[in-house]
Amino acid sequence: MQSPWEYPDFDDHEVVHFVTDRKSGLKAIIAVHSTHLGPGAGGTRFWHYAKPGEAISDALRLSRGMSFKNAMAGLKLGGGKAVILADESRAKTPEMLRAYGEGVDRLGGAYVTAEDVGVGVPDLVEVSKYTKFVSGLPVAAGAVGGDPGPHTSYGVFLGVKAAVRRKLGRDSLSGLHIAIQGAGSVAGGLARHAAKESARISIADIDQARAQKLADEVGGSVVAPDQILSMEADVLSPCALGAILTEESIAALRVPIVAGGANNQLATPADGDRVHARGILYAPDYVINAGGIINVASEYLKDADEAGVKAKIEQIPGRLESIWDESDATGRNPADVADTMAQRLIGRG
Ligand code: NAD
Repeated sequence: MQSPWEYPDFDDHEVVHFVTDRKSGLKAIIAVHSTHLGPGAGGTRFWHYAKPGEAISDALRLSRGMSFKNAMAGLKLGGGKAVILADESRAKTPEMLRAYGEGVDRLGGAYVTAEDVGVGVPDLVEVSKYTKFVSGLPVAAGAVGGDPGPHTSYGVFLGVKAAVRRKLGRDSLSGLHIAIQGAGSVAGGLARHAAKESARISIADIDQARAQKLADEVGGSVVAPDQILSMEADVLSPCALGAILTEESIAALRVPIVAGGANNQLATPADGDRVHARGILYAPDYVINAGGIINVASEYLKDADEAGVKAKIEQIPGRLESIWDESDATGRNPADVADTMAQRLIGRG
């Protein structure tokens, strides 16, 4: 039997909180990695895990990721993440959400929750009846908050442009070919921004109809999902799943730039070196995709209006530049450089 301290993903997490409620059947894990910069913020995932140990690993890994992401986004937030262990039927009940909300509340603000896979706005509205430590709730028209997707897309678009400027010496995406994996919220926003600059867009999604709809909207082409990663293009923008950059897929890349919104794009840390060794410019995922959390943070901290949120998102290219500068100076890959910078920011450098 492994204790949480023995998990490979354990990284001196400040709190790992197990929440159990027999009546509703709730089993949840709340991991707070660091509160050095502020309350540990990150969403709640509702997921069926084959083994409870996988849920612990997920909470540990994802909460550490949130510490790094929030720190690199310049937010006054630490990192946390929660997982609710769904049974096979994935039934979610108000009683379960109530017990979960009470569990979040018991941490007294060390953890602030939001949406993640399997948890949407209506669930958070329910949770918010039992704790005030919730973000990502519906907001009044014109107020800061709500769907993070468009903000993430805007930051990814600016990050793609920064990469293009650095690697290709071009100020505009006009005429450049952007291969986008995914046709969902983040991919859609990116494709629209890029189309406005007259980029040539290829899109792949396992949901063919979704890919076609987006391609029609932006004047792009649909590509088969198994071809997008090896397509010849100026930029590959992964905006679907994580762990898509593997030894095999990296060897097949035919792009000078990988810059996209998906979380955890590198399957392993060694894949950061592999991309770098091929001379491909990589935009660390949690830096380029921070637009959504920047928006969510301003909703929770009430520290910026819409213009302020936009201004913070517009700092993403500068952060990427400083990572790439340090990468050039040290020869270390950009993902590794970003991790070290984040560690320093949370007082663990
Ligand atoms: P989404 O659910 O709206 O879209 C994801 C799309 O990816 C879906 O259309 C799905 O069919 C497609 N997809 C899944 N597997 C695929 C595959 N193998 N090949 C091609 N397409 C595939 O999700 P989203 O909100 O756009 O998020 C996309 C990525 O960005 C995720 O990794 C997410 O964690 C990350 N992200 C999202 C936000 C946000 O604000 N929404 C913020 C930060 C990071």
